[in-house]
Amino acid sequence: QLAPLRRALLSVSDKTGLVDLAKALVARDVELLSTGGSAKALRDAGVPVRDVSEVTDFPEMMDGRVKTLHPKVHGGLLALRDNDEHLGAMTAHGIPPIDLLVVNLYPFEETVAKGADYDTCIENIDIGGPAMIRAAAKNHKFVSVVTDVEDYTALLGELDANDGQTTLAFRKRLAQVAYARTGAYDAAVSTWMASAIEEATPRRRVFAGTLRQTLRYGENPHQTASFYTDGTDRPGVANATLHQGKELSYNNINDTDAAFELVSEFLPADGPACAIIKHANPSGVARGATLKEAYQRAFDCDRTSAFGGIVALNGIIDAETAEEITKIFTEVVIAPGINQDAMKFFAAKKNLRLLTTPGMANPTDAGLTFRQVSGGFLVQDKDNGHISMEDLKVVTKRAPTDQEMEDLLFAWKVAKHVKSNAIVYVKDSATVGVGAGQMSRLDSANIAAIKAQRMADAMDLPESLAKGSVVASDAFFPFADGLMEAAAAGATAVIQPGGSMRDDEVIAAADEAGLAMVLTGMRHFRH
Ligand code: 5GP
Repeated sequence: QLAPLRRALLSVSDKTGLVDLAKALVARDVELLSTGGSAKALRDAGVPVRDVSEVTDFPEMMDGRVKTLHPKVHGGLLALRDNDEHLGAMTAHGIPPIDLLVVNLYPFEETVAKGADYDTCIENIDIGGPAMIRAAAKNHKFVSVVTDVEDYTALLGELDANDGQTTLAFRKRLAQVAYARTGAYDAAVSTWMASAIEEATPRRRVFAGTLRQTLRYGENPHQTASFYTDGTDRPGVANATLHQGKELSYNNINDTDAAFELVSEFLPADGPACAIIKHANPSGVARGATLKEAYQRAFDCDRTSAFGGIVALNGIIDAETAEEITKIFTEVVIAPGINQDAMKFFAAKKNLRLLTTPGMANPTDAGLTFRQVSGGFLVQDKDNGHISMEDLKVVTKRAPTDQEMEDLLFAWKVAKHVKSNAIVYVKDSATVGVGAGQMSRLDSANIAAIKAQRMADAMDLPESLAKGSVVASDAFFPFADGLMEAAAAGATAVIQPGGSMRDDEVIAAADEAGLAMVLTGMRHFRH
């Protein structure tokens, strides 16, 4: 099942590593065929190569739309070397067998990402490349197909390990990757077309990913899991650099994403902010005069839950902040950067994973989210909804004070990242009570209040942390009871979407309690 390698066809758009690979193949007595630009690059480097057009006796034509689409190429890729009829056809028609295909495709995805016009995108749809890749991959019993520059070294290693031949297992692996590439390529074309013709819900959709990491296990140890990237360079956990600590687990990645997306709501230009996450919900979020203070204030919301948490910061971590964070056990720290001085504090904590990202995420960026259900999956736009002061409608007799208004907007940003039903108490740009994921809004309000009281008790404070706070609710209050619970806990102002059948009742109750209430008109369910 070893296959010899006597002839290779190289046709690459990305010429990285091409010359080195070609030289290494020539050194192993491989004859090279190539298309226009690739052949020129090789000749310029003094590598002997034959033009595909010489083999096909057909010129490349139609702006390169037709280069390799010819039976002499596809016959050479597809012919079964152990089939007399196929061998006869090769002889009869002068078809040279091609044992290795190295192709990378026209940069369609990059062209779209650059915002190119329609016709340019169309011209960047590779036709001959995918056709050859699919042919070579189908015939992996005899032919190797390399579609990824990263596999050049592996190919040479394989040849060296097998006396200039390739094993069937190796060719099968290459074929699997090759079909993933052509599949992803056509998925990108189809997705682009859907947006170009403004088809929001195309009848068929494909999503593709590239393996970033095989995970040790999934949400639980008996589940296998892996982490795929979607090819975008968005700052976040998928494009972060791990500086220390063992690799991230499935839950770490999920929680780190939640932490970083939440802290990204707070622009670095508006000052330092910190979010601490446990099980995808914030145990505390705060701004501070310094990053250290932001961390301390986030920590103070719920010191118990912060243990073993994920800490996300919106600024460059300095030594002071690092020293503070390392006072307790923390699973992961993620930030857009870190000072050298801060590194040594983390280095002392071997189990702590330290990640930096290329900048902050933009919370208003468009994107998709997925959820699997039995027999299908749900796809939706990412919740990038954004509210500013001008969008708010004051519905109570009393309008919020400036301080309340600032806290209301802060609480609203946090509530967007808390699992529903979400109730968030905030005072002076720090959460003081978070109620998450309850089946009743009243329970969430209640739990958040209990936590605010418990922290106050732990800190020996005379009254609940929620006293004089503001409160955010991710969706409307269906009844006045949840609102009254918040008022009883000490909240003085409320932000919520409104839109309940009982809005009048809720507003009247707010007025009676002397609360200020603003409506956003936008809901932030998160499940
Ligand atoms: P080169 O730079 O060598 O002229 O072209 C290499 C590129 O052409 C590769 O990306 C390859 O996939 C693509 N290609 C090879 N044959 C054909 C063909 O017949 N039609 C089209 N449209 N592209 C081709």
